[in-house]
Amino acid sequence: MLPRTDILARLRETDPAKLEELRRQADAVRRENVGDDVHLRGLIEISNHCRRRCLYCGLRADNARVRRYRMTGDEILASARRAAEFGYGTVVLQGGEDPNITGEWLAEVIRRIKADPATCDLAITLSLGERSEEELALWRSAGADRYLLRFETSNRRLYEKIHPPRSPDAKDRFALLPMLKRLGYEVGTGIMVGIPGQSYNDLVADIELFKKLQPDMIGLGPFLPHPETPLGRESRPAGGDQPSNDEMTTWKMLALTRLACPAANIPGTTALATLNPADAYETSLQWGANVVMPNLTPPEYRRLYEIYPNKADARESAEEFHETWVRRITALGRGVGVGRGDSPSYLQRAAMLMETTMLLSKKTPRISRI
Ligand code: SAM
Repeated sequence: MLPRTDILARLRETDPAKLEELRRQADAVRRENVGDDVHLRGLIEISNHCRRRCLYCGLRADNARVRRYRMTGDEILASARRAAEFGYGTVVLQGGEDPNITGEWLAEVIRRIKADPATCDLAITLSLGERSEEELALWRSAGADRYLLRFETSNRRLYEKIHPPRSPDAKDRFALLPMLKRLGYEVGTGIMVGIPGQSYNDLVADIELFKKLQPDMIGLGPFLPHPETPLGRESRPAGGDQPSNDEMTTWKMLALTRLACPAANIPGTTALATLNPADAYETSLQWGANVVMPNLTPPEYRRLYEIYPNKADARESAEEFHETWVRRITALGRGVGVGRGDSPSYLQRAAMLMETTMLLSKKTPRISRI
């Protein structure tokens, strides 16, 4: 692991030759650890209802301008079938923290995806915010494989400012991440780069926290101001200790994250593609990323999932997106991933767990019948 001062120096680096060296290093570590294949995950934005008031997010409960929707179980299953038809190994069910997505309702949707012959081989990733341990355990036992929950910033003071708690005793994201691991999920987290009030030292601490947590998946995107949110209105020019929310700062973070967590799955994010629709995905894949998440949300809902303005991929159909993607990946000289694309770190953990379970079962003395 790079020392703090080196991470900081690389984050502030402006020399093109040194930046290219960082990019090459991250790209080589990516190739060595997760290979050249790019895994495609079908993203389904299942609801834009949210009970939370996160200061950065356009879906926050206080934003009365959003027309809210929630997909039905049948609609979710139909989108999952599209993912399977395109050959994707994973669907990501993402949404606001919607209280009407109840534990049992979603468990049934998960069971249906896992029981349908067309979709039964798909890995299911959930990204539905801070839910109770009972709900998370229920969804895991219903068949959910992965859970994504970004901590957004490791600076506790900033974290608390931008995440007004739902109730004083609710577990925060830092407490939920180890619990998700204990429940057997493949766990993802991540941050936003350039949050007003964030510092360069905070970004260094984010990398150190990734290193400590060793998540299976890590998503990084620039903070994009939404005019209907308190943080969106809190403009703060980059400079001094305030990092920029631009592409280059995000790519530097992407590369440093790959060096800190070589075996993690790291996507090129929609937020980066929103800044630069022309080639941010490709560039991310050259700075350490190995995953892309084509959007399979039905178009009538997709435009309502406005976490920030002018979100990339809001208009293309699932077919267009898919075809473009296969072409773009091939043009980079990379392959399209086949199968679920579990992260090597998760596979190692699962194998160790299996070994321990087998060892314990051998050691447990049999109760002999008299
Ligand atoms: N509700 C779930 C949660 O909070 O984890 C998942 C949905 S949330 C909209 C998904 C991610 O969108 C967040 O983790 C956050 O990083 C990102 N996001 C939300 N508002 C954003 C903004 N203004 N700029 C950049 N990313 C944003």
